[in-house]
Amino acid sequence: MNVLVLGAGQLARMMALAGAPLNLKISAYDVRSGNVVHPVTLDVLGHGLENGIKNADVITAEFEHIAPDVLEICQASGKFYPGETAILTGGDRRLEKALLDKAGVANARYQVITCRDDFDVAIANIGLPLILKSALDGYDGKGQWRLKPDSDIDAVWLDIDNFLKTSPQGARQCVIAEEFVPFNREVSLIGARNAKGDVEIYPLTENIHTNGILSVSVAAGENDAVQAQAEAMFKAVADTLDYVGVLAIEFFDVGGNLKVNEIAPRVHNSGHWTQQGAEVCQFENHLRAVCGLPLGSAHRIRPTAMINIVGEVTVPVEVLQHAHVHWYDKAPRPGRKIGHINLCADNAAALTDKLRDIAALLDTTEFPAIKEAAATLA
Ligand code: ATP
Ligand code: MG
Repeated sequence: MNVLVLGAGQLARMMALAGAPLNLKISAYDVRSGNVVHPVTLDVLGHGLENGIKNADVITAEFEHIAPDVLEICQASGKFYPGETAILTGGDRRLEKALLDKAGVANARYQVITCRDDFDVAIANIGLPLILKSALDGYDGKGQWRLKPDSDIDAVWLDIDNFLKTSPQGARQCVIAEEFVPFNREVSLIGARNAKGDVEIYPLTENIHTNGILSVSVAAGENDAVQAQAEAMFKAVADTLDYVGVLAIEFFDVGGNLKVNEIAPRVHNSGHWTQQGAEVCQFENHLRAVCGLPLGSAHRIRPTAMINIVGEVTVPVEVLQHAHVHWYDKAPRPGRKIGHINLCADNAAALTDKLRDIAALLDTTEFPAIKEAAATLA
């Protein structure tokens, strides 16, 4: 089967690697160049979306910030999973918030902002602190403003107003004001759903961010009640979208009660641990779902931690004695995800020790969250 992935980054690359044993041939459409490329070698295989679609049995996506006209063309082919609505919703916080409300899942109180009046009403109704997020094009904490009780409200508005007036998205762009959620921790749930509505759901992962970028994810065991809440919310969202593929949901955990932060209609960075820690990894399960194949078990076979390799950092080769290293073959740049490390152990205590061992091999300024991750497990 031939699968075309919209986007030619590391997620398409890891799908290709996971799909090879099933004889699934993955090509990637690079939305910037318009080329169809091999997702691992990046060799150019062809040019143009129409050409890519013609040669594909199934189309999917590795990211949600895709132009609506591209999504429309893919949808019209009848081969696109999870499809236009799911990708549009994941890429637009306004649609995403409406979906969460429709699915009846708890999420941060919010208001849509398109003008100064909306902004003032949000401050009055939701109160400070407020988090403001661009509806379109936000990722890794980009396109966000924080409004605290001591912030200069006029200055923040000036910045937002300028952002709205100069957005390449024009009138489609807006800002979502959200209550500040005083969470104890952030967790995410990843699961696969097929066209019949069957699901395979991975255990929750605890996520630690540094400067708005995911740093470490740990999947080492979870409170049953919290897992059950997350799974119920996953099913509500996935059923509402009649979703096919892997879907990720990020949550705030406030004293054991979950609120959805956001969804990602795709394989997700916080699910990379499944490559070594689960019976069948998220990349393979996504392909199984979109290709109409039976889903694989999402059972966690051992406690696993994933450490992102971000920016211009060095990883000594000795790390390979303790862990699996996945490089993305990307040029290092500040803030850019260029690879990750998966660390497995027989139990949570052993994983804590391994995190401490690996922290000693790495520069702690380059990998700031490993010690924190070890502390959360201990
Ligand atoms: P991603 O790379 O996950 O797509 P993003 O840029 O889309 O990131 P969010 O996940 O919405 O943005 O926010 C980034 C981080 O900011 C969150 O992981 C969380 O730590 C913090 N944050 C976001 N919204 C809130 C909120 N309402 N209350 C408290 N903290 C928040
Ligand atoms: Mg996020």
